[in-house]
Amino acid sequence: MAGPPRRRGAGAAAPSLAAGGGARVGTLPGVGPKVAEKLAARGLETVQDLWLHLPLRYEDRTRITAIADLVPGQPAQVEARVVAVERSFRYRPMLRVAVGDQSRGTLVLRFFHFGKAQVAQFVPGRRLVCYGEARPGQHGLEMVHPSYRLLADDADATPRDRLDPVYPAVEGLGPASVAKLVGEALKRLPPAEELELLPSGLRDRLGLPTLREALLTAHRPPPDADLALFSAGRHPAQRRLALEELLAHHLSLRRQRIALRAHGAMPVRPKGKLAAALRKRLAFALTGAQQRVLEEVSKDMARPEPMLRLVQGDVGSGKTVVAALAAANAVEAGRQVALMAPTELLAEQHLANFRAWLEPLGLRVTWLAGKVTGKARAAALAEIASGQAQVVVGTHALMQEGVAFSSLALAIVDEQHRFGVHQRLALRDKGLSGSQVPHQLVMTATPIPRTLAMSAYADLDVSVIDEMPPGRTPVTTVAVSGERRAEVVERIRAACAEGRQAYWVCTLIEESEEVEGQAAQSTYEQLGAALPELRLGLLHGRMKPAEKQTVMARFKSGELNLLVATTVIEVGVDVPNASLMIIENAERLGLAQLHQLRGRVGRGAAASSCVLMYKPPLSALARERLEVMRASTDGFLIAEKDLELRGPGELLGTRQTGLASFRVADLARDADLLPEVHRAADALLAEAPALAERVVARWVGGAARFAGA
Ligand code: ADP
Ligand code: MG
Repeated sequence: MAGPPRRRGAGAAAPSLAAGGGARVGTLPGVGPKVAEKLAARGLETVQDLWLHLPLRYEDRTRITAIADLVPGQPAQVEARVVAVERSFRYRPMLRVAVGDQSRGTLVLRFFHFGKAQVAQFVPGRRLVCYGEARPGQHGLEMVHPSYRLLADDADATPRDRLDPVYPAVEGLGPASVAKLVGEALKRLPPAEELELLPSGLRDRLGLPTLREALLTAHRPPPDADLALFSAGRHPAQRRLALEELLAHHLSLRRQRIALRAHGAMPVRPKGKLAAALRKRLAFALTGAQQRVLEEVSKDMARPEPMLRLVQGDVGSGKTVVAALAAANAVEAGRQVALMAPTELLAEQHLANFRAWLEPLGLRVTWLAGKVTGKARAAALAEIASGQAQVVVGTHALMQEGVAFSSLALAIVDEQHRFGVHQRLALRDKGLSGSQVPHQLVMTATPIPRTLAMSAYADLDVSVIDEMPPGRTPVTTVAVSGERRAEVVERIRAACAEGRQAYWVCTLIEESEEVEGQAAQSTYEQLGAALPELRLGLLHGRMKPAEKQTVMARFKSGELNLLVATTVIEVGVDVPNASLMIIENAERLGLAQLHQLRGRVGRGAAASSCVLMYKPPLSALARERLEVMRASTDGFLIAEKDLELRGPGELLGTRQTGLASFRVADLARDADLLPEVHRAADALLAEAPALAERVVARWVGGAARFAGA
């Protein structure tokens, strides 16, 4: 799924917006079309992009260290003379240059890649300065591939007066050229007052510098700068940049919301007959939380502006039925409903639920996924266009071209974090009729810490289903070394002998779906041999939808005892009789994913358990994760821990949310800035909307343009 353009496209930013930074890199001295192309490949298109191309770290060449004072493991600069040179070819070519200084220390510079000319430079007696990390070698301290500079005898070796920035690499350009280009770009930095967009009151309150000062400090820290603060990303210069970036993203989401609200929506005010009929047919009563959230949703939908609501609820909290009741209301009002899920498996489950619930009420539920092709697709499209399809369930195929609704009033998106904001907008556009847009209901099972939710979903109102349906028993979790696999197998045998069912989840990270499928296949075969009395099923991403469906149906009906699966079952699979889950290589998964997987059990009345099987030795981080899982089943608590341990990128699946495009900010590290960001956003929108506009344009560019509808 391609995201919105991360960077501004050609000519998109008016120079006035970016205060001179909007000029193309090609206007800098030394940047011809070739260099510009290399920069563009790294997303560096404008002068401002170079301003924001911040150093990864710094090198301190402001001091000269005597060789005798070198500390192993610490980078340092040395001024010395060549004492001896030795080339050898024993195992591979190697050049060793012994240098000495007035402290009478000797240091060996060791090179593995070198040219003839380089060797010729190192004449005994030659003066040089070099910079690198000293470490113990065969004959005292050595530096491997230090950076060095040869000096004439009378040359001035005065150290630098600034720390040297080390920039993220740009393919095809040497580090020195990148540093030089950034330097050229910085020469174009306008005076502080011209560049500045943040009110001085805000800066003062937080003790943060102007943008100009922040940029100059971040690129050229003074020699006394606190490098530890810099590497932790908490230097005021970095915080200043992060604050503005977070503000820009937040404002951009808020603007989307405002823009969307400007459209009208069809007020949905049914008598509630269909919903009442559905509730009567359910085998259970709604929980208080479901009831409350349904009321919040119904109230939103009754209004002539589009609903923009996120329903958060832990795995198994019962979001689907709330969505189905909202759908029944929209249909009763004579409108269409679309329900989109991120995977085919999940969409199919929704289809089955919605059909079971709504078809007996006389509603037409239509299916549309990528695999629906040819005549079937044409028929589905015709039904959708004519309005005959009252509820349409599917995958992102719903957003493809050619899908046109006749009167879409409610767009439901499940597991929103797997789609992006932009995809949500695309589905909205499907419902555009005149100036009206559909109401949007977004459901997510990933509990998101409050701070993060406010940033990630600044464009949505949030409802929380914070109560589990009654009769659930909490899942007991244990972590077990893979060496005890045989015991785990016995456990499955015992559980299935009691008529219960089990999942065995095979995980492989960073492997292809194909490799993962093969791993699941061989586990399936091994387990089948070890448990000949059980009926096993296999489920992985490479199987055909029809095959998957059959396996799921057989497992759901109880015909299969054990389902061996890849993480495709992570989302939405619902088999209440399954009460045992084994997760293999659990140490490789993050907390959010483990929590999602574990949510597949504990759905029925039987006491459930989850076995996290790991491959020793465990890293400290993995150990901590497994301990969190063992100790808690509270999704929100686990999410907070996850944020702490991993950072928000992975937590939100950010590649899809657009949050990953932060250049400076890091939501976990800078979370404490968020309350201030939200206050500042309120103030700017109320008092200086034009300024808010410029903040967004500076940092978000293309994405904001996309969302500006
Ligand atoms: P999720 O919020 O994870 O999507 P589901 O909507 O799949 O959860 O619901 C999980 C299970 O709980 C389903 O089998 C559903 O029918 C059932 N369920 C939902 N609401 C209730 C309720 N109020 N009482 C009992 N069971 C419920
Ligand atoms: Mg669900």
